[in-house]
Amino acid sequence: MKKIIITLDGYSSCGKSTLARQLANELNYVFIDSGAMYRAITLYFLRQHVDWRHEKEVHKALGEITLDFQYNDQSGQSDMFLNDENVEALIRDMLVSEHVSEVAALKEVREFAVAQQQQMGVKKGIVMDGRDIGTTVFPKAELKIFVTADPAIRVERRFKELYAKNPSITVEEVKANLEMRDYIDSNREFSPLRRAEDAVELDNTNLTRDEQLAIALQWAKEKIAG
Ligand code: C5P
Repeated sequence: MKKIIITLDGYSSCGKSTLARQLANELNYVFIDSGAMYRAITLYFLRQHVDWRHEKEVHKALGEITLDFQYNDQSGQSDMFLNDENVEALIRDMLVSEHVSEVAALKEVREFAVAQQQQMGVKKGIVMDGRDIGTTVFPKAELKIFVTADPAIRVERRFKELYAKNPSITVEEVKANLEMRDYIDSNREFSPLRRAEDAVELDNTNLTRDEQLAIALQWAKEKIAG
């Protein structure tokens, strides 16, 4: 059967990764969370005290980074590995969330990540979520979905997710972080977040996970058949 590339882009915490993962499972495709790559790079920069205002430091640090997704038998999902270390949990930390958009705005960081992402799509059969997947990474993807959700709902969902791991987190902190990331991601010079002209919009504010999956799956099946 024909294999296609499916991209999901949108603002922070609107459920892109959840939908992308479910879609990939249903279609037996590879799922790639591109945000995890920017998070892992940010974790490395923070740990190594890389001053990312200096191009030379960024260049040197990127040369020391190997990123890799490895399947986890227990969770049934792929985990992000940074230089052979499983950093899947660490990259979801608030400290990383606070800096990731600044790091992801750097030209050389984007070139580093995008080249690897494009390589992963060579054989198609892939669902990738992020901010610039339909515009920059795979501009010729067969199905592009732009996911949206009401901002208050996004804050609530993200808060619940983070609170489960860290009960000292506040709604205000989560809201401020989402607003800051959305602002930087939409206004950066290189590959800002925007809806590709040929993307279909999926507003999941009032949809359950199953309902949004059914819609996206229908679109995917039409593209695969067509
Ligand atoms: O998807 P997630 O929220 O984990 O992404 C973390 C950050 O990585 C985003 O806020 C954005 O700054 C950056 N990102 C990006 N391009 C992508 C995916 C993520 O700039 N394709």
